[in-house]
Amino acid sequence: MTDRTNKKEEIIQGVAASPGVAHGEVFVIHQRDLEIPVLELESTFIPREIERFERTLVETRKEIMRVRNEVAERLGEGEAKIFDAHLLVLEDTALIDETIRQVQDTHYNVEHCYAEVAQRYIEVFAALDDEYIKERMTDIRDVTRRVLQNLLGQSAQNLYELTSERVVASEDVSPSDAAQLEGSKVIAVVTDAGSRTSHAVIMARSLKIPAVVGLHDITKRLASGDYVLVDGYDGTVIINPGEETLFRYGRLKQERLNIQKAFEKSSLMPAKTQDGVTFKVCGNIGGPEECGAVLANGGEGVGLYRTESLFIGADKFPTEEEQYQAYRRTVEAIQPHPIVIRTLDLGGDKMVSSLNYTQDEENPFMGFRAIRFCLEHTDIFKDQLRAILRASAFGDVSIMYPMISSVEELIQANRVLEEAKEELRHRHAAFDENVRVGSMIEIPGAALVADLLAEHCDFFSVGTNDLIQYLLAVDRVNDRIAHLYQPNHPAVIRTLSQLMAVARKKNIPVGVCGEMAADPIYVPLLFGLGADTISVAPTSLPEIKYLLRRMNFKEAQALAKKVAGLTDPEAIFMALSAFYAQNMGDLFKDEE
Ligand code: PEP
Ligand code: MG
Repeated sequence: MTDRTNKKEEIIQGVAASPGVAHGEVFVIHQRDLEIPVLELESTFIPREIERFERTLVETRKEIMRVRNEVAERLGEGEAKIFDAHLLVLEDTALIDETIRQVQDTHYNVEHCYAEVAQRYIEVFAALDDEYIKERMTDIRDVTRRVLQNLLGQSAQNLYELTSERVVASEDVSPSDAAQLEGSKVIAVVTDAGSRTSHAVIMARSLKIPAVVGLHDITKRLASGDYVLVDGYDGTVIINPGEETLFRYGRLKQERLNIQKAFEKSSLMPAKTQDGVTFKVCGNIGGPEECGAVLANGGEGVGLYRTESLFIGADKFPTEEEQYQAYRRTVEAIQPHPIVIRTLDLGGDKMVSSLNYTQDEENPFMGFRAIRFCLEHTDIFKDQLRAILRASAFGDVSIMYPMISSVEELIQANRVLEEAKEELRHRHAAFDENVRVGSMIEIPGAALVADLLAEHCDFFSVGTNDLIQYLLAVDRVNDRIAHLYQPNHPAVIRTLSQLMAVARKKNIPVGVCGEMAADPIYVPLLFGLGADTISVAPTSLPEIKYLLRRMNFKEAQALAKKVAGLTDPEAIFMALSAFYAQNMGDLFKDEE
């Protein structure tokens, strides 16, 4: 037995965010507490101290460029833009000059002076009424940390530079960390903060990296070099797992892998239920490079193309032409299947770090985001609409508006769309004149007036991530209240049930594209309630299609009816789990 297995085993419960089991050595990324020494220097050392600072800035620049190019190569220019914003912060002359002045005036070491100056910036910015500057604070923190680590001679914490497999423990997954996950040696992610529906976690899930979030103080409990086991199915982290635990999880992991293989073997077959009803299941993507995964996992189109990645990290809004190229590539990559392109949904946890357009807000999730922003900046909105329309000439494209909260908003958005069409006609540019238009239903008010919205659009798509947070007043990224974020709450089931009934009456198709649809336990309920289609992360498709092929649609309808009458979230969860187990049970038994 090795030394580490003699240590006491400790089990910590968090929130299961990305399925899978992994065990290995920990690599802790501390985003906050670097220990900065305070040293008073002889005046003869000051020029050398400043030289050291300048050398470090050059080194850090090279390092950021290296990460930037690596990410651009692996994930495309869009994902790499965040590092361009980092370079701007690094090269900010005010920050550099003030640090040098402080070293010269105070004779303190440069780490101390740089940390102080950067902290002052952060504090001043925090007090300013400017969303653009506030959003840049994350970049300043990221860059300051890099520079300080290099000054202190600590190794830089670039995930893609890990040379052996590690479980990464971090306070949260920053946008620059998330961009480095793909192709890195990260085998699992555990975080103090976060939730299942944050965008970094959605990314981990699509890369099949197990993740447990909402662990509160895991970065304090762990040190780099510790050994842990991560169970992304149950949301547990086991520190110093003993041999028995490793054996048990080794079997579980193998069983799950075998089961996953069984799912994947049949993922290209249609999702036809035992009683002959065929459902369409699609994939959610963030760019053209993800279309391959949708098709490989049996997706029959894209039900949600989140277009924000073109904007996040950019220092200016992408032009109509740049957007058109990206949308056209995506449309062509998913051919001959349909694709739903969602218009810009900036705000909430999809922050723009460098576009000076938003204002300071107490409550960004309920603020100036998504369609609200677009309707005030119709020039930006119209650029995007024209780009999508032009891409519609190359495939089966639908346009979808996020965060619609009223009929007026939908009418206004359609008006801008008509203007965009008119402008294209004027330019003799080709586009699909019959392009379908959908409204996301992710605000309770929209669900309540769905009958009215149905008069002005061709389809609905339910965004359960936001719908649940607004319906239950539970911030989707707040780990303190993650237990209250319940898709199995009767209010959620009732809202969905009423919405589906209205959609049926109005003869308008309804899809579900939030994370609730990616959890196989809820899939029979959603179809049983009347959903026509679902759209989920590509990696979730094989299991869902497998389940749909084994279940009976009539039984799913009976389940939905029964669940809609239940009042206790736990009872709802048990009924849904039992249905899932009945339909998948013998598969799991085969693998025991
Ligand atoms: C949702 O809210 O469920 C959704 C699909 O949109 P997003 O997660 O991008 O807010
Ligand atoms: Mg949403």
